[in-house]
Amino acid sequence: MSEIQRHYRTCNICEAMCGLVIEHRGREILSIKGDKEDPFSQGHICPKAVALQDYYTDPDRLKTPLKRTADGWQDISWEEAITEIAQRLRATQQAHGQNAVAVYLGNPNAHNYGNALTLPTFFKALGTFNRFSSASADQLPHHVASNFMLGAGLLIPVPDIDRTNFWLIIGGNPVVSNGSMMSAAGVERRMKAIQERGGKVAVVDPRRTETAKKADQHLFIRPETDALLLLAMIQTLFSEQRVSLRHLADHVDGLAELEAVSRDFTPERVAHTCGTTAQTIRQLALDFADADSAVCYSRMGASTQTFGGLCQWLTNALNIITGNFDRAGGAMFPQPAFEMVRPKKGKPGNYGRFNSRVRNLPYFNSEFPVATLADEILTSGEGQIKALLTIAGNPVLSSPGGERLAHALESLDFMVAVDIYINETTQHADIILPAATGLEVPHYDLFFNAFAVRNTAKYSEPLFPKKDEQRYDWEILKALSLALTGMADDDTTPEQILDAGLKQGAYAEQGMSLSTLRDNPHGVDLGALQPCLMQRIQTDDERIVLAPDFFVADLPRLSRWQQEQDALREHFPFTLISRRLARSHNTWTQNSQRLVKGKNPVTVQMHSDDAAVLNVQNGQQVRVASRVGTIELPVVINDDILPGVVSIPQGWGHNRSGTQMHVAQSQPGVSINDITDPNRIDELTGNAAFNGTPVAISAVSGEL
Ligand code: SF4
Repeated sequence: MSEIQRHYRTCNICEAMCGLVIEHRGREILSIKGDKEDPFSQGHICPKAVALQDYYTDPDRLKTPLKRTADGWQDISWEEAITEIAQRLRATQQAHGQNAVAVYLGNPNAHNYGNALTLPTFFKALGTFNRFSSASADQLPHHVASNFMLGAGLLIPVPDIDRTNFWLIIGGNPVVSNGSMMSAAGVERRMKAIQERGGKVAVVDPRRTETAKKADQHLFIRPETDALLLLAMIQTLFSEQRVSLRHLADHVDGLAELEAVSRDFTPERVAHTCGTTAQTIRQLALDFADADSAVCYSRMGASTQTFGGLCQWLTNALNIITGNFDRAGGAMFPQPAFEMVRPKKGKPGNYGRFNSRVRNLPYFNSEFPVATLADEILTSGEGQIKALLTIAGNPVLSSPGGERLAHALESLDFMVAVDIYINETTQHADIILPAATGLEVPHYDLFFNAFAVRNTAKYSEPLFPKKDEQRYDWEILKALSLALTGMADDDTTPEQILDAGLKQGAYAEQGMSLSTLRDNPHGVDLGALQPCLMQRIQTDDERIVLAPDFFVADLPRLSRWQQEQDALREHFPFTLISRRLARSHNTWTQNSQRLVKGKNPVTVQMHSDDAAVLNVQNGQQVRVASRVGTIELPVVINDDILPGVVSIPQGWGHNRSGTQMHVAQSQPGVSINDITDPNRIDELTGNAAFNGTPVAISAVSGEL
């Protein structure tokens, strides 16, 4: 019998970058625990980490290419698959134009340095502008705000929660998510530390979330009113003369413009719409300004809504005008060992370089919004998408209007999926290419170190070697690039690019390289976040743009929306918001039986006052209808949600006919995104507006 060995790696399921220690005997995993010596996570893990072994042994996981035939899925060789894909993609482009082939990237690409470093070459080989990703169903407003205020979409401010005295969380639930656009393993511990040093945590949310329950203050507000709340807080600070740019006084343009545009948004004017009082808003603003250090962090509820762009701009603005930007305890900028912010002064992003063909939506960061992917497939005419390649994504469950997107995928001439499962999206593909995954791949966090609350770096070797018949994702992309272009392989590997980047990065003088990281399997601590914005800002004149015209011009849309609110409720009296569950992540972790066993988590949460009016009981089946669809699911009644607001978990809807995942979901196919509306977007950024969907609810029979 072989010896018990220990393997150290970073969990790459979510953004928290938890260090793991995995005990194994050969290929048998004995335990997965938090690595106390990991300088970033210090031993924290969540239940999902243990499920990494389930994905490794999952019998549903594909390992060799599959081709759809009249007799069902057939195994084919890698060579055959790559050759056929390249031929059919090129034939589609020759017949219908370069942009007739589209690509969709799912969230796991952000956790995969091999893909991230290989995709630029692949896109060049494919030569299409029709690119989509999960970013426009998630965090696009953050990138757009940084683009227009700081000149670089990846220069993301992160709350310095380890030193702040006042953490204001708007529309985020980091106790459950473990942080998002803020990698912070062990959020609960870090929150407690704020409270123990005399600081305060306040949560603004239409739900009393798991985070709100542990905070010092929770303010219920109505969905999609966050921008109004932020404007009223900013107006309060100007009118009470509490604005102080502190160390940034000589680096900020637009203070007078911000004061002018916020003038009309008094707490009195917005309080009714927000569902709170003017005095509460005013006090929140003053408490924030009075704290020795404070940081406002706004996330999913404030991003995936019709004013996501305004929310992220105003969040940054609040941090700036209280002197809490690029300062310890405020919003700071991580300095990763591999720099993702490329110098590009004078060329801030490519927002609006094109508009989408059917709905005229903006292009940003070389992508169109995913909310219009189905339109571009289903609407005939020049430029119509005829072929699609999805890479590690399940947009049928994760994008608004999922049912219509499934219908659109069925109409394609050709579809390829790089994926490990036959799921609700990939079942429509002609060829599926499964990559090695999880414990079989090396890991370095290219993106999430750029959003982390402390500077660290870590490289993880594969725990198990992949089998000969398996390919890494980047090997698949490279093979496709070579087949599309006919070029010879230059033998460059992602490890070589990573090593070169580390050697040229911010820690080059300390000898940072891939071999340094290989010598330190627990990771390397690079210290607390340091002020660095003025060295890294990418605006032409290196000044912070506090009130970009781009955002200011969107304020009349917000005012109009506020005036129309009461009339909008006639046919759809409830407002739907999504929620995240601690034991699932996006759409793909649900195939671990240990994570999903127990009660059906796919329920609609409702306030007891609403339940009494509708005469529904806890556990009863209800019908939730929106403009685009209807689903039925059990109701859970409690008062942790505002009256008039209901909530359904995101990322579910598995076990549909034709798929080959076996998720223990008691109601197959129930997906929130069959009732979210692809026409509801943040018009400014193009981000999907999952939160705020108007719905009607009626009782049907059934038990939980
Ligand atoms: S919090 Fe995220 S990174 Fe940490 S163990 Fe859980 S899934 Fe993995």
